[in-house]
Amino acid sequence: MFGVGFLLEIVWSSPVDNPGWALFYSAVFFSALFYSAPSSSRSRAARAQAGSRCKDGMVTSATSPVLQRSSALTRFILAPNPGPMSLDGTNSYVISAKDAEASVVVDPGPADEGHLRRLAGTGRVELILVTHRHADHTAGSVRLQELTGAPVRAADPRHCHGADPLRHGETIRAAGVSIQVVATPGHTSDSVCFHLPDDGALGSVLTGDTILGRGTTMLDYPDGALGDYLESLDRLEAFGGAGVLPAHGPVLPSLEAVTRAYRGHRLERLAQIREALEGLGRDATAAAVTDVVYADVDASVRRAAEMSVAAQLDYLRGRSEG
Ligand SMILES: [Zn+2]
Repeated sequence: MFGVGFLLEIVWSSPVDNPGWALFYSAVFFSALFYSAPSSSRSRAARAQAGSRCKDGMVTSATSPVLQRSSALTRFILAPNPGPMSLDGTNSYVISAKDAEASVVVDPGPADEGHLRRLAGTGRVELILVTHRHADHTAGSVRLQELTGAPVRAADPRHCHGADPLRHGETIRAAGVSIQVVATPGHTSDSVCFHLPDDGALGSVLTGDTILGRGTTMLDYPDGALGDYLESLDRLEAFGGAGVLPAHGPVLPSLEAVTRAYRGHRLERLAQIREALEGLGRDATAAAVTDVVYADVDASVRRAAEMSVAAQLDYLRGRSEG
């Protein structure tokens, strides 16, 4: 059934705005830049168990619901909600220092009982954090709180349960780890990332949907805005070579390199949209521009593409009027 869940998956989870060949191109591009490809002789099942590894030994992909190591201080369980837009599914992270008795869960994911029980079964969960309001990150929050007794914190008070909203610049000390809250609006207005300065030599950042492991994220217009997003990329670039722990797709090294690639992609899209407006007239609708810029877009991601175009038109028109 083409129900609400599916629509949420398509529209809200982590849609890329470069569907079709461009998504494939991006995947190849990022692969070439950042991954050591697993041996072709390894079976898919073997890769699912082991993940593939970057040069620094971090797991870069997973296709099974097993707790897997993603960095010195983090592990994750892949939620069973794969889709054309949510990539392999939501990565629910478990943060804890070595020898710590408790852990912090970031993004409980969908309301899937098996997934939430697996998260609760990783040990004593003392805190639950969410990166932003979308259902594929928050739908399981209340149930995970029931299972663990841990409070839930988010930037948006409507997604907090038993605790205060997150504040930009705040440092949380939990599970033996320092977790710094970094506001990164753009994908949504309430998006935050979590910086772990002590996670390996260069630290790491849990990037939610602001940065994905493959492709690029969509802007959930009008709540998501391109001006905000570009500023958030600047903010994230300052973390240099920190590891990237995205909510969808594989772990990547060097946040700095990824933010530069994302900015390049955005500016390229803006140039295409400017060019389309020259032919269509400056008051062209998002739908008309999408027809030109995303001429080959698959119907399943058309709405996501149109939303990102709307956000970019808003940005261009705001700048020309301002
Ligand atoms: Zn999202």
